[in-house]
Amino acid sequence: MIEDKDTQRTSLEKLGEFGLIDHLTQNFPISHTSTIKGVGDDAAVLSIDNSTVITTDLLIEGVHFDLSYMPLKHLGYKAVMVNLSDVYAMNAIAKQITVSIAVSNRFPLEALEELYEGIAMACKLYTVDLVGGDTTSSKTGMLISVTAIGEVKDKEITYRSGAKPNDLLVVSGDLGGAYMGLQVLEREKEVFKVNPESQPDLEPYSYIMERQLKPEARKDIVELLKNLNVSPTAMIDISDGLSSEILHLCKNGNVGCNLYEDKIPLDPTVISACEEFNIDSTMVALSGGEDYELLFTVPQTDFKKIRGNPNLSIIGHMTDAAEGAYLITRGNTKIPLTAQGWNSFETGS
Ligand code: ADP
Ligand code: MG
Repeated sequence: MIEDKDTQRTSLEKLGEFGLIDHLTQNFPISHTSTIKGVGDDAAVLSIDNSTVITTDLLIEGVHFDLSYMPLKHLGYKAVMVNLSDVYAMNAIAKQITVSIAVSNRFPLEALEELYEGIAMACKLYTVDLVGGDTTSSKTGMLISVTAIGEVKDKEITYRSGAKPNDLLVVSGDLGGAYMGLQVLEREKEVFKVNPESQPDLEPYSYIMERQLKPEARKDIVELLKNLNVSPTAMIDISDGLSSEILHLCKNGNVGCNLYEDKIPLDPTVISACEEFNIDSTMVALSGGEDYELLFTVPQTDFKKIRGNPNLSIIGHMTDAAEGAYLITRGNTKIPLTAQGWNSFETGS
């Protein structure tokens, strides 16, 4: 390993692919008995009794993340979170992940160490085993793909399709924070371009910036529902904004929905940032995306079990498909919900 002692930039070429993989994956203990063989053979070996859910996400520099304000450690953490979130949205518990990366020679070993520190932190906090991956080079930029594997009892799998008319619509946590955090980060990036010496006070924005840079997947909600003895009829995670996720539940379950504007959970920091940026907070919750909260439906009979829980908000109820999907505003007007969720194929995004 050849190191430049002054700048701590160890070139990836000098280390070689095998040395690199060994180095990056050395601090990943295996904690599940279902992991028979992790990193180090041609394939990982798992032995799973229950139903298995598998999900994968691909993140590309310049499309899904911007390294000018996204520290690599956070990127590693977030890349794992977005996948775990999809596992939890099936009412399953994530057990293993694989991580594949493509990097250009502009990244030194130290950058990948940072990325893997974030991945390791996510694995530790969420009790997930890193069992494999792939490492390759790219001409420009970084690409990271995570696959997550989870377990769930057959009867407990929760699809997007199970909502019934009169079911309550429930969301965890609060919405819009990740989008407003991104607005702040984009603004500061522009300010920095003009004046690199500026020392902005970002303290008031710490919650929303964290929602953008270090989201947490809601494993705790899957566990909470189990403890409350609540079986959601349908569930989805909020990656693209409340509106488009509700429409998924409606379409897949062949139901309609009434969503009440005054019930949408918003953190005070989100409300004040919306005022500052002159954006409507309801619009942000409906279309913002990247909140990684869980949205689910439960039968009316479960109302007592979830009422007043600080982690959960009842924001509406499902109706017959023929009634359509609507937002009931604070002024009691009915507005059709549209999928204005973030679309990665939109020009310019
Ligand atoms: P192969 O040539 O058979 O694909 P690799 O040399 O790519 O083998 O991988 C060797 C081992 O290291 C495998 O267990 C693989 O899953 C693991 N691995 C490769 N790259 C990564 C990575 N970026 N993160 C975690 N594990 C990895
Ligand atoms: Mg390989």
